[in-house]
Amino acid sequence: MRPPSVNDLALRIAEVGLPHPLLVIAARAAIAAGDPDSAVDEAHRLRRSLLGSAINATGVLLHTNLGRAPLGNQHSRAPLGNQHNRAPLGAAGLDDGPARASNLEFNLVSGRRGSRASHASLLMATLTGAEAALVVNNCAAAVTLVLAALARDRGVAVSRGELVEIGGGFRVPDVMEQSGARLVEVGTTNRTRAADYRAAAERDDIALLLKVHPSNYKITGFTEEASVAQLSNIGPPVVVDLGSGLLDERCPWLGSRPDWLAGEPGARQTLAAGAVLVTFSGDKLMGGPQAGIICGKADLVAACAAHPLMRAFRPGSLVLGALQSVALAYLRRDADAIPFWRMASASTDELMERASALGVGRPSATMALAGAGSLPGQEIPSAGIELDGDLAASLRAFDPPVIARVNTQTTVVDLRTVDPADDQIVAEAIRQSLTRRN
Ligand SMILES: *Cc1c(COP(=O)(O)O)cnc(C)c1O
Repeated sequence: MRPPSVNDLALRIAEVGLPHPLLVIAARAAIAAGDPDSAVDEAHRLRRSLLGSAINATGVLLHTNLGRAPLGNQHSRAPLGNQHNRAPLGAAGLDDGPARASNLEFNLVSGRRGSRASHASLLMATLTGAEAALVVNNCAAAVTLVLAALARDRGVAVSRGELVEIGGGFRVPDVMEQSGARLVEVGTTNRTRAADYRAAAERDDIALLLKVHPSNYKITGFTEEASVAQLSNIGPPVVVDLGSGLLDERCPWLGSRPDWLAGEPGARQTLAAGAVLVTFSGDKLMGGPQAGIICGKADLVAACAAHPLMRAFRPGSLVLGALQSVALAYLRRDADAIPFWRMASASTDELMERASALGVGRPSATMALAGAGSLPGQEIPSAGIELDGDLAASLRAFDPPVIARVNTQTTVVDLRTVDPADDQIVAEAIRQSLTRRN
């Protein structure tokens, strides 16, 4: 028997709900594999490869593979994806309402051209006590821009203990080279003193002293590092790449700082200690969309904004809209409106109650993590469900996918990273996984 034509087969699997050209791709793959009946599975596989929402039950709050900080519908809509999330992109006015423009680069008061940098600048500066702020696409871009704008063809002193690789190819020496600045290593891997930076500044043409938050690793034992306050007395301006982006060490949006954040430097305190600029990610401890934020002295922020690279690094209105929404929540001290903080600050009692209420599996104490390289090794007490055996694949196959953690003999569904509104969906996913196995 001749195999069906690609087009006929694509028409036959239309119930999968993908546009015809994608069904054709699935049909062609099934025919090429000699198994036309697998076309529906191929199409489902293709559908699940598209960007969509997922339920993070890993207990890792900022999961790098799951988009880091979770965002609520009020901040953004997940793009085309699974059946539970059909809404198109929608942060800045593109949701179910009428199609509208925005004042992205339009000054509503003067009626003249405005700046897309102005909206977030005021909010981020207010949140960190900075004179000014600038938003780019991610923290890697923020560091590159700062170095290119302020240190091109000049030296930048960095401690040998802070020449880090953050992951995803972000290595401080490489970023330095790309930006046209010259790396001047100071101190040693484990100990760097203010005097090491001072000696470099006296000997060399140093444009900046750069401190980089080691983020994803810890040096312990016989160690020493110079504080921002010490460095700010040496002479060259001090820039700190904070990475994680805790806005304020006192966490006024929570009322007080949780124990697991002890020692994490805040943007506000780092600037107050004498840094002229700080850089950090929008989607780590800030709990916003993927973005990079530069905060600090107005003239230096202006120099970054005026650099030609800014045109390549500038974010679009979807990101700026989501970031503004998160920034406004901080200014209202409304941690409940920021999913990351809502999840991070849930009590273990509350999580244990939710676990019991699911009515499946064994409610258990668990340990969650901040993730995204923030606070390495720092566990956050949590609770969830324990299931015998490895059910990860079957939970992942659910729609929407539920991403769990697997220990050697058990599957852990950690509820700290699950929105309570999804609890019943998680319970159903677990029930179906258990049924399928039995
Ligand atoms: C995470 C991190 C970066 C990179 O941030 P992205 O927003 O992922 O580009 C840079 N520096 C430090 C210290 C970091 O922790």
